[in-house]
Amino acid sequence: MLNRQLCSSKVAHTTKRHLSLHEYRSAQLLDRYGVGVPKGFPAFTPEEAENAAKAVGKEDMVIKAQVLAGGRGKGVFDTGLKGGVKLIGSPYEAKLYAEQMLGHKLITKQTGPQGKPCTGVYIVEREFVRREAYIAILMDRTNQCPMIVASSEGGMDIEGVAAEHPDAIHQTPIPLATGVTDEIANTIAGQLGFSIQAQPAAAQAIKDLYKLFQDKDCTQVEINPLSETTDHRVVAMDAKLGFDDNAAFRQEEIFSWRDLSQEDADEIEAARDGLNFIKLDGTIGCLVNGAGLAMATMDIIKLYGGDPANFLDCGGGATIDAIRHALQLITSERQVTGIFVNIFGGIVRCDIIAKGLISVAQSMDINVPIVARLQGTNVEEAHRLISDSGLKIFSFTDLDDAAQKVCQLSKVVSMAREIDVNVSFELPL
Ligand code: GDP
Ligand code: MN
Repeated sequence: MLNRQLCSSKVAHTTKRHLSLHEYRSAQLLDRYGVGVPKGFPAFTPEEAENAAKAVGKEDMVIKAQVLAGGRGKGVFDTGLKGGVKLIGSPYEAKLYAEQMLGHKLITKQTGPQGKPCTGVYIVEREFVRREAYIAILMDRTNQCPMIVASSEGGMDIEGVAAEHPDAIHQTPIPLATGVTDEIANTIAGQLGFSIQAQPAAAQAIKDLYKLFQDKDCTQVEINPLSETTDHRVVAMDAKLGFDDNAAFRQEEIFSWRDLSQEDADEIEAARDGLNFIKLDGTIGCLVNGAGLAMATMDIIKLYGGDPANFLDCGGGATIDAIRHALQLITSERQVTGIFVNIFGGIVRCDIIAKGLISVAQSMDINVPIVARLQGTNVEEAHRLISDSGLKIFSFTDLDDAAQKVCQLSKVVSMAREIDVNVSFELPL
């Protein structure tokens, strides 16, 4: 069970199955729902940035890199420029920073070392803040209802707060039947650490955020910081909103705001071919049919001490094209040192899959071991085809045996690579 949770949470973390919006789009939505946001305009060229700053019309402003990742404030650009959030004092400065941000990659603790491209900047008026709080609305699987997470210790490092001062983080499950009542709103408002004057506005903001969460099929609404200004207004200074992809059909406007430049090119490509492909950081590439079996496959890999390199569900059909594309995706990752094909031949017969696998493997230059576990209709014929093919594909019917084998082989190849020894698993033998 623990393994399942491990894998599942990892997928949830890396997945792009929840649409994320840029901050400036999120701010527009929050504004529509009556939540206070700083006045601001997006810009996609340095000239636009200068004009955006003029339109903001204040002396004190902030320029913010529009990159779909948290931790921008503490991020670093690949050019060396420190910080994806900068205080500025003039339209000229907006232009200067925009020149240094646009077209470059921002690396934050959420982007990984390769960073994410900055395709836009957001110029906002600067707020003068007396307190920074944290608030998020998420789906809580355990209680099967939304949950509001609130803390008075908002700002840049909520992960640090969660690790060091877990008491400072309050969690409130929201009953679906009642939603956020006045009582719940007031209690959570009290947890934010704002002054008495700001409490009513905070309670209202919590209700507005919850309404947005429900109306727009959000999977996440995270405001960090939700700030109290020196004149006691409550303002969402940053917003990270996520939306359930299954709701795309009824949230057309929101889904039209998707920015593909922020997503992994391989994953987009895979989705086009009907593959559900999500990169992970392990070493064992997985090719599986069915999402449930794909999850179980990752779990059993973990159970035998391995680490999956990806989640991949190639759909019920498992056609030759799907298998080819899947193997291309898997083998394009350098860290992959073993491939686990786990296919249940129900809709499609095992011998057909085996033929597909053999023909693809023959045409590709694969130099890591492949372990194939086929089960289902015509499984004997499938194993005969694989052993007659002369290819070095390890063929199993038992899931445990297959998983153990692939973990073992992958470990050997990884170790060999580390000490620069060439273990040949080239196909054919
Ligand atoms: P993140 O690092 O990606 O979460 O980006 P944020 O939008 O949260 O910006 C980083 C930090 O900059 C915030 O946590 C604030 O502390 C600070 N910040 C951003 N805008 C303002 C502003 O208008 N006034 C003040 N005082 N701080 C700001
Ligand atoms: Mn933030």
